[in-house]
Amino acid sequence: MGVANESVVIIGAGFGGIATAIELQRHGFTDLTLLDQASGLGGTWLYNSYPGAACDVPSHLYSFSFAQRRDWSRLCSPQDEILSYLREVAGDHGIDRLFEPNTRVTSCRWDDAARRWTVSAQDGRSWETDAVVIATGQLNQPAIPSIPGEFGGRAFHSARWDHEYDLRGKRVAVVGTGASAVQFVPEIAEQAAAVTIFQRSGNWFLPRANRPYPAAWKWAVQHVPGLQAYRRRFIFNYGETLTAAIRHPRTFGRWGRLQSTLFMRRQLKDPEVRRKAWPDYTFGCKRVLFSSRYLPALQRPNVELVTEPIERVSAGGVVTADGAERAFDCIIWGTGFRTNDFMFPMEVSGTGGRSLSEVWAGGAHAHNGILVPGFPSMFIVYGPNTNTSGGSIIFYEETQAAYIRQALQHVRARGVAAIDVQPEVEAASDRAVQARFAGTAWTQCDSWYRDERGRVVTNWPGYMRQYEAALRTLDPAEFAFVALPDPVRTEVPA
Ligand code: NAP
Repeated sequence: MGVANESVVIIGAGFGGIATAIELQRHGFTDLTLLDQASGLGGTWLYNSYPGAACDVPSHLYSFSFAQRRDWSRLCSPQDEILSYLREVAGDHGIDRLFEPNTRVTSCRWDDAARRWTVSAQDGRSWETDAVVIATGQLNQPAIPSIPGEFGGRAFHSARWDHEYDLRGKRVAVVGTGASAVQFVPEIAEQAAAVTIFQRSGNWFLPRANRPYPAAWKWAVQHVPGLQAYRRRFIFNYGETLTAAIRHPRTFGRWGRLQSTLFMRRQLKDPEVRRKAWPDYTFGCKRVLFSSRYLPALQRPNVELVTEPIERVSAGGVVTADGAERAFDCIIWGTGFRTNDFMFPMEVSGTGGRSLSEVWAGGAHAHNGILVPGFPSMFIVYGPNTNTSGGSIIFYEETQAAYIRQALQHVRARGVAAIDVQPEVEAASDRAVQARFAGTAWTQCDSWYRDERGRVVTNWPGYMRQYEAALRTLDPAEFAFVALPDPVRTEVPA
C-alpha cells in the first residue's frame, strides 16, 4: 500500500507557490503546507512596493487562467492591485489556511532511509514531507554591488523600499536602469530635489502609457461575450511576437529594433541624453522595457544621467571613475537580483547527501526547469531556464503546477515513495535547451539571464506555447520511481 495522502510542503507564497497549491488541492492532494519568510502572501508583489511598481505584462495575461478578472483598472496593473488579486484568489481557494508566515526555510534534506524530505526553518521548526516544491523564484534575493567605500546617508534596494524615508527635497542617487528603476524614476523625480541616475547599460524601449481604462472599455469587457478571452489571446500572441524578435535578431529582431528606435528618437529630444541612454547591444538581449514615462523623466531639469562608471562611494556621495564626486542624501539600488543563485541561501541535499550547490557548480539546470536527478519528488517552480522575456511568468507557473501534479499522481497511482528524473533524460533536455539559444539575441550581451560562463541559466529559449506543449503530458518513461522503504510505511488516509 502506498502513501494515502502525500504530504507536500511548498516553499514560497507568491504566484508560483499559490498556483501549485491550488492545482494540487483541486486534484485531491490535501496535506499541503505553504511556507514563506514573509508575513503575508504575495511573494514578489509583496516585496516590490516601490513607487510606480506595476507589471509591464498586461493583467489580462498576467493573471491566472482560471481566475480571470474583468475589472482591471488599466492595461498594466499597479502592485497593490496585483497583490490584492493574488490574495483574493488564494482566499477563494482556501490557500490562506495552508499558510505558515514568517518561516525562513534554511534547508531541505532528503532522507535516504525514510525516503522523505525534512524541511527546516531558522526558528527550529521542521516538517517531514513526501514532496517539496521550491517556489522561491528567480527574482527573490536583492543584489547590491560591492562598491568600495562607505556611504553615510540612507541607502536601500528597490525591492526593500524604505517607505519611512521622505524623498521630498532630497538629492537622490539611483544605481541601475533595469525594469524596476524605469518604473520608479519617473515617480521619484517628481518628489526629490535632484535625481542622478548611474547607468551601466542603456535599454531598448517600447511605448506604454498605461492610462486607466475608460469606463466604456471596462463595461465592454464585462458585458461583451468573448472579449475578455480575445484580449488575453491577443496579448499572448503579442508576447510570442516579442519572443520571435529575440529568437531571430536578424529578421524579426530588426522589426523590433526599428519600432524601438522610432519611439526612442521621438521621446529623446535632448541629443546628449539620447546619446547616453542609447543601448549598444542587440534588441532583446536584455529585457525590452515598456515605458512612455522614463525617457521624458531623464530630460527633466532635476534629473541627470551619468554613464561614467562608479568607482566608490564616499561618506557623502558617489565618486565616478573620472574623479568627480557628487553629493547625495540617499542611494537607491535598482541593481536587480541574484538570479543565478537559485534558492539561495537555502541548503538543499538529495540522495546520498549530495548538495544541490555541488550539482549546480557548473550552472543551474533542471528537467523542464523543474526536476533535478537525485532529488526525488523535489520540484522547482520558476526554476532554471523557465523565465520569459516575452510573456507571462504566470502562464509558465501554471504549466509547471500541472506538471508537478501529474508527477505526484504517478507517485500515488504506483504506491511508491517518490519520483526521480533519469539523469540521461535531464542531461539531454538541458543540451536541447542550451542548443536552442544559438543565434538568439539572449547570447549577444551580458545580462542577468546568463552566468559567468555565458550560459543562459534563467530563460526558456522558446515560446510560451512550446513550453506548455512540452509539459502537457508527463512521460513516466523519463523517470525512476523510488520504492517505499521496508517495512512499508502505511498511513491512515486523512
Ligand atoms: P535588472 O533588470 O537586473 O537591472 C539591474 C540594473 O542595475 C541594470 O541596469 C544593471 O546594469 C545595473 N547594475 C547592476 N549592477 C551594477 C553595478 N555594479 N554598477 C552599476 N549598475 C549596475 O533589475 P530590476 O530592474 O530589478 O529587474 C529585474 C527583473 O525583474 C526584470 O528584468 C524583470 O524580469 C523583473 N521586473 C519586472 C517588472 C515588470 O513590470 N514585469 C518590473 C520590475 C522588474 P547592466 O544592465 O549593465 O547589468
